[in-house]
Amino acid sequence: MTGLEIYKLLPKTNCKKCGYPTCLAFAMALAAKKASLEKCPDVTEAARLALAASAEPPIKTVEIKDAAGSVKLGGETVLFRHEKTFWNPCAIAVRVSDADPAADGLEAIDAATRLKFERVGEQVRTEFVFIENTKSDDSDFRHLSDAAFQSGMLVALCSKSAAALEAVCSAHSDRKFIIAAPLAADCREHLKLAAASGLPLAVGCNSLDECLEVSAKASSVNFANFLFLLKLSSPSETLDMLVQLRRLSLKKNNRALGRPVIAVTSDSADAVSEAVEAAQYVEKYASMVVVKTTEPAAHLALVSLRQNIYTDPQKPVSVEAKLYKIGAATLSSPLLITTNFSLTYYSVVPEIEASKVPCHLLVVDTEGMSVLTAWSADKFSPEIIAEAMKKTGVTETVSHRKVVVPGYVAVISGKLSDLTGFEAVVGPKEASALPRFLKEFKL
Ligand code: SF4
Repeated sequence: MTGLEIYKLLPKTNCKKCGYPTCLAFAMALAAKKASLEKCPDVTEAARLALAASAEPPIKTVEIKDAAGSVKLGGETVLFRHEKTFWNPCAIAVRVSDADPAADGLEAIDAATRLKFERVGEQVRTEFVFIENTKSDDSDFRHLSDAAFQSGMLVALCSKSAAALEAVCSAHSDRKFIIAAPLAADCREHLKLAAASGLPLAVGCNSLDECLEVSAKASSVNFANFLFLLKLSSPSETLDMLVQLRRLSLKKNNRALGRPVIAVTSDSADAVSEAVEAAQYVEKYASMVVVKTTEPAAHLALVSLRQNIYTDPQKPVSVEAKLYKIGAATLSSPLLITTNFSLTYYSVVPEIEASKVPCHLLVVDTEGMSVLTAWSADKFSPEIIAEAMKKTGVTETVSHRKVVVPGYVAVISGKLSDLTGFEAVVGPKEASALPRFLKEFKL
């Protein structure tokens, strides 16, 4: 709501009880989220309700808190990451169907549990297994669901049959997971089951009209914990619908469409084209992407992409600025310096390790900027580095008086030497050249 729209709902007496000189000033502060409505004692109940509804996030958040982990889906407030940030990372799921031989399904669940990676200091993984019931006999579906619950992963279960889902819900009543109805036209029983079990429900939709229809059915039974499930006939249609749902909920304030969205990749895609398709959904604007492949390379690409998108663009990813010991470094080990930008740190450290030369690495606080950016922003100047060297006590850490500076900032070496009494030796520009440099380096 704009300040003027809020103003129309206020008493307009300018009594100043809220601490603001006028109702208009208070309305502007509310619109800027700098004040709380509680400060006005005279606001009517109707206005309070209207304002509370408008303060609700445009896209609902669905949270799954289970013994296997927890995730929040949806809850986004902007269309583009540079406007603010994206909050709740798109979950990645492996799709396992009971149409495949049961042994293949169990193998896929097992493979999904191994889709864990370490990237720039963070543990990232594929979180969900999405079990699909396609047969009228649900015994394989139940068998696969049991295996999914034992796998240590989060679980989503999709079946046309609410009865098949109900059987699994009763067997695993202590777990939290997503249940899904593949068809919007056929979701009434699923809605009842979700409401009774307290589980979130994803409903398959092929068009915006179907999404609206599902929203209407859900609100008619007062059920709010639902998501949209998209599996359209082509990737471009799915992408188009993801974009339309996001735009309509954020730009047109369409609350009926403001829901997390699960996007399922095409059946026919091979592992590479499926990864490309899924990457588009991660970018725009799926809350969960469901893929068939368990190829680690495809999942690493997806979780890396997600990690890059779901960071605050105003806060570069950084590591702690301090003096690190790499290997069994001693008083006579080389001393190197770099910045605290994560990607720089995680490029430099493996190369030092690969050299097998134990080193001390002084990571200077450059507010998460890389070497050249930090230097040009005056965050990696000789004065700042000299201060960091003093603070971390490098004179006691090493007995020699040499410090290796990154090749890109050779220009700082003279002044750094003058300020610290250490000879600033110019190292390589690229981290990949460090092993060779360190092997040949003489103190
Ligand atoms: S307390 Fe309410 S009525 Fe009084 S000035 Fe503030 S907003 Fe207006």
